[in-house]
Amino acid sequence: MAGIEGEKPPAPSWRPGAWFGEPWPRPDYRAPVCEDDALRVETPVGLRCAWCRERIEKSDRGTFLLTFEGPDPVHRECSFRQVMGGIGHHEDHALWCGERKDPDGGRTARQSALEVWALHIGTGS
Ligand SMILES: [Zn+2]
Ligand SMILES: [Zn+2]
Repeated sequence: MAGIEGEKPPAPSWRPGAWFGEPWPRPDYRAPVCEDDALRVETPVGLRCAWCRERIEKSDRGTFLLTFEGPDPVHRECSFRQVMGGIGHHEDHALWCGERKDPDGGRTARQSALEVWALHIGTGS
């Protein structure tokens, strides 16, 4: 999947612990992952998220994941979904995880992650 569309490597300012976008959940109350402004890098617009494979947009926020191809951006919602499980898991574990083997509940990976974020964190930030 990756690399077939001439994707560019992340911003040269990338370093371990780097994050991008506006700090979350609020500028005055930050998650540990985005506490350090020295590690904030330019939003890698156009690169694909390592989890959902959708392209990063200007308003997105997130961190990076080291893959075999180098550091790939990951939406904050997608990192969260990896820890929490997909939206299908939260709606009906027996049905989506058990019966249908689709913890994302029939949504795209990105949509599932956004819904899990909204469910636990809210939509305000
Ligand atoms: Zn993503
Ligand atoms: Zn489940």
